[in-house]
Amino acid sequence: MSGEHSPRIALPRTGVGVDVHPFEEGRDLWVAGLRWPGQTGLAGHSDGDVAAHAACDALLSAAGLGDLGAHFGTARPEWAGASGVALLTETARLVTEAGFAIGNVAVQVIGVRPKLAPRRAEAEAALSAAAGAPVSVSATTTDGLGLTGRAEGLAAIATALVVRVDG
Ligand code: MG
Repeated sequence: MSGEHSPRIALPRTGVGVDVHPFEEGRDLWVAGLRWPGQTGLAGHSDGDVAAHAACDALLSAAGLGDLGAHFGTARPEWAGASGVALLTETARLVTEAGFAIGNVAVQVIGVRPKLAPRRAEAEAALSAAAGAPVSVSATTTDGLGLTGRAEGLAAIATALVVRVDG
């Protein structure tokens, strides 16, 4: 519908992201922007922060900018080993640079450990600071089923909402 009386509305756009990493002995665990002392870490070229990575992919998805692999993959060796928080900070910059305001990001971590609830506020603060927008963090388990239920790895799913602001 068009016409001079029709409001010009920049409709919000949603995005989705998923990430999974296997646990690996001898590595520090980083999840949701936090280090979890005493816990087995996650394997990966980066810190394996599934929550931060899912959040990045959700933001890129919402903005129509592709995915983590496209921006920080093997073609960009300078990002090898980057922390999840560093990737989320740069992703938010890319999304903003592309003309979007970030409404919010919601991340759900799927697995049996670490227990996120006691540090949920801390995790939300860390990821929100990186994204420059509210990031909510929740957690669930899979009743012992699958790779997350057997504690072989950790998964995360995220959604994001952005709105175009550059007209
Ligand atoms: Mg990942």
